[in-house]
Amino acid sequence: MKKPLNEMTITFLSRSANESFSRAAAASFFSQLDPTLEEIADIKTAVSEAVTNCIVHAYRNTLGKIRLTARIYPDNEVYIQIRDYGCGIPDIEKAMEPLFTTCETGERAGLGFAVMQSFMDRVLVRSAPGKGTTVTLRKTLSSKPSDGSPR
Ligand code: ATP
Ligand code: MG
Repeated sequence: MKKPLNEMTITFLSRSANESFSRAAAASFFSQLDPTLEEIADIKTAVSEAVTNCIVHAYRNTLGKIRLTARIYPDNEVYIQIRDYGCGIPDIEKAMEPLFTTCETGERAGLGFAVMQSFMDRVLVRSAPGKGTTVTLRKTLSSKPSDGSPR
């Protein structure tokens, strides 16, 4: 595995206010890659979905810690890991199926993982019931024109 060129980690409580904080923090970190507006919007959407899942599912009616690590690898590769220490996911394959949700109130569409998969190149989920869940997101951004002309 290549070594990261840059890395940052933040840890925050599963308060809903931290959904917008964490996606803005990730976007701000990756701005050094000079991403397109579309790329930055894709990253923000995927981070939002993963963090929202920690807030509403992992810690449901409790408060817990969420750790977000963001890394830049060579060749414009974006890496984001979102970790919680909450309830965990018993069947990951099923949880990732579009329209699958454990929400019984009808508020959720069951599309969070599908959204992450459509906006990022790779989505990896690891989970242990009772211990928590780790979602890893990767995306290779388009490279800047070397002559400095606008994209
Ligand atoms: P939506 O994201 O459309 O609002 P949703 O959150 O139910 O609905 P997904 O984000 O695709 O849909 O997640 C599917 C299911 O996986 C959830 O209903 C929940 O049961 C489980 N899940 C997802 N993330 C976590 C997590 N961090 N901890 C525990 N369970 C999770
Ligand atoms: Mg969701």
